[in-house]
Amino acid sequence: MRQPLVAGNWKMNGSSDSIRKLVDGILSGLETKAEVLVFPPSVYVQQVRDLLKGSAVKFGVQNASDKLSGAYTGEISPLMAKDLGCEYVLIGHSERRSLYGETDADVAAKFCALVDQGLVPVLCVGETLSEREAGDTMKVVAHQINTVLRAAGPERLANYVIAYEPVWAIGTGLTATPEQAQEVHAEIRALLAENDPSMADRTRVLYGGSMKADNAAELMSQPDVDGGLIGGASLVAADFKVICHAAGQ
Ligand code: PEP
Repeated sequence: MRQPLVAGNWKMNGSSDSIRKLVDGILSGLETKAEVLVFPPSVYVQQVRDLLKGSAVKFGVQNASDKLSGAYTGEISPLMAKDLGCEYVLIGHSERRSLYGETDADVAAKFCALVDQGLVPVLCVGETLSEREAGDTMKVVAHQINTVLRAAGPERLANYVIAYEPVWAIGTGLTATPEQAQEVHAEIRALLAENDPSMADRTRVLYGGSMKADNAAELMSQPDVDGGLIGGASLVAADFKVICHAAGQ
């Protein structure tokens, strides 16, 4: 049995004041069997860690370097994420890929660096609209995943999460239908099973892309959808909690 996971990606939003209110709102009355995780902007991670103390909600950073220290201005070391108490780190988000030029190989290097520090990567994958329309969804997603699997090797694949995020659905209000999501999630699991069936069984595959309070339950009722990676709706405590409750049903 895979425990559902709901992760909120706050992106570059918030202030210390709004983040305090958001965390208070999330913690108030949160009851779910799902694991709940938030990715605040890195400068607020310490504040969020303190606010979450004593709760079951976890936190992580939205990106990390594949390097551990040195002259890499503006980067966040996996060691720093670990030092702050992060358990999870988001990597390969489509905004990092499209706006900052991160390649599949860059993402794979980050994956390895994180696992080597005992952190759990949440690896984002997904196709653009033109790739989907060309029938290349699984070709793109398989390349993104296989690059990581090859670089990591079997010993680094004990614990990680995949987030399938069709790029055309992120922040657009367009959501994959539950059937479209299930189809890709099942293919991702089959791909993982080619490497190691038990890894495929235990690895959580989240859906992300305009998951909201009113469509989360249906998306997460699909057998291979193990939770969600939530952008916009994770900034509204009440909506995020509805999604967490739906995941823990
Ligand atoms: C995301 O950015 O990971 C995301 C899923 O965003 P949204 O929920 O806003 O589409």
